[in-house]
Amino acid sequence: MNKEMINKLKNMNVNIVAVSKYHTKEEIDAVAKEGLITFGENRVQEFLEKYDPKYKWHIIGHLQTNKVKYIIGKVEMIESLDSIKLAKEIEKQAAKHDVIQNVLVQIKISKDELKTGLPIEETDSFLKEVSTYPHIKFKGFMCVASHTDNIQLIEEEFSMMNDLYKNYKDLYQLDTLSMGMSNDYELAIKHGSNTVRIGSAIFGARN
Ligand SMILES: *Cc1c(COP(=O)(O)O)cnc(C)c1O
Repeated sequence: MNKEMINKLKNMNVNIVAVSKYHTKEEIDAVAKEGLITFGENRVQEFLEKYDPKYKWHIIGHLQTNKVKYIIGKVEMIESLDSIKLAKEIEKQAAKHDVIQNVLVQIKISKDELKTGLPIEETDSFLKEVSTYPHIKFKGFMCVASHTDNIQLIEEEFSMMNDLYKNYKDLYQLDTLSMGMSNDYELAIKHGSNTVRIGSAIFGARN
């Protein structure tokens, strides 16, 4: 665990999601002692193994519809909403548990083949639909920038996301723009991110 990094992040005046995938519950507890209490996990199975109601949890990885029922009532935020099919299942399970589930819509901002997310041109119709679901609270956007050394490209992607966020912020009363990881969080914050998802820079390299 990197205490210096944690203190640096704390001074940056953004929300921090400590991405704990592949790290143990003991490592999570150690980071929590340093004052970070929101953790991000990619996979449902791994999340359930480490889940502790003392902390806040965000699901940040691609979420399969058949896994939603295991996480509703346990996660503060689903950051990776990217299809109507998934939204319908979240609505159904949240209604069953009588909770309102916070979500971010993940936008596919990178042209990278492997990246998941909603195509940006579908944002408008997607939001119109999802905002009618009574058990889903749409709080903002999430993205993963291209994995590249091309800083200009990364900045363009973050800047487009910031424009998108500003476009819809008042209409839907948004408060979360989640972008920036260990390698690019400073660029993300420069372009308006208020929530960074940091894994390896806090926990060290993943096993
Ligand atoms: C793994 C992951 C992160 C954290 O990545 P680091 O480079 O370790 O900071 C952030 N967001 C998502 C969606 C991830 O899958």
